[in-house]
Amino acid sequence: MSNVEENPAELRCPAEDDDRVPGVEVLSARDVPLGGPRAMTVRRTLPQRSRTLIGAWCFADHYGPDDVAETGGMVVAPHPHTGLQTVSWLFGGEIEHRDSLGSHAFVRPGELNLMTGGHGISHSEVSTERTTVLHGVQLWVALPEEHRHAARDFQHHVPRPVRVGGAEIRVFLGALAGDVSPVRTFTPLLGAEIVLETGASVTLDVDPAFEHGLLVDQGDVRMAGTLLCPGELGYLPTGRATLTLTNVSDGAARAVLLGGTPFGEEIVMWWNFIGRKHEDIVRAREDWQNASDRFGTVSGYDGERLPAPDLPRHVTLAPRGDRPRR
Ligand code: MN
Repeated sequence: MSNVEENPAELRCPAEDDDRVPGVEVLSARDVPLGGPRAMTVRRTLPQRSRTLIGAWCFADHYGPDDVAETGGMVVAPHPHTGLQTVSWLFGGEIEHRDSLGSHAFVRPGELNLMTGGHGISHSEVSTERTTVLHGVQLWVALPEEHRHAARDFQHHVPRPVRVGGAEIRVFLGALAGDVSPVRTFTPLLGAEIVLETGASVTLDVDPAFEHGLLVDQGDVRMAGTLLCPGELGYLPTGRATLTLTNVSDGAARAVLLGGTPFGEEIVMWWNFIGRKHEDIVRAREDWQNASDRFGTVSGYDGERLPAPDLPRHVTLAPRGDRPRR
């Protein structure tokens, strides 16, 4: 598949560059095929050249609404993770999750599924036969140095919707609009789905110590005065106590608000691994290829596990992200 830059119709973004006031950095998505015979495609806004992290959020894939009969849906065979947590959040459809902790769960719209990779975990993700349209986000959270070898974990949470004016908000991580998620995170973090009625404008209190990213799913949304179109991620640095979101489209708009304190560490990210230096990645790859206990085994998945791709030859992966502040 081609990049979004080669297919501008995908974003349906009106040419209103003059409206883009300084302050909000607009990150566009690139299309990435997930692999497999029919290759479902996702729109990736994190990481990218100009930005690796928003708080500890280090990966953002947005997909759908996809007609599963056309795309084949999501079929991701068992694969490993280390040094991160995965956050699955759906708008439509259903995904069956199995991991090497023994978890067997169904990811459904409005329900948070958070898996902690820590030192090592493996999992499979397959959209169910009941799914006709698949639509959602897959997000990763980098673990800070002191917790990056944490034990495997899997948490599930169904936030109650909170009404603020013309907005309906589901806080799956952190605190917003008077709701607090009970799910534990390793760094201060915010994750919430926000649905705005036609014409709705809301001003939300946010933590000035947080940087924020708004990933727009549907409709055109103004964040702090800057227009964001579907598939775009608007970034705002720290220092704001409020955030105003306005739906400027004809129908309802939906977005996911991410936030967190600046991560303050450089990371090395390759395939499904996060480490601090090249050697961490080489070791994780070897451990997966050698079927080490580190990642465990996924039972109940019908098929082979994913082999790791080859590491680029003669290249040492360089750390990226926030420079250490000390
Ligand atoms: Mn995964």
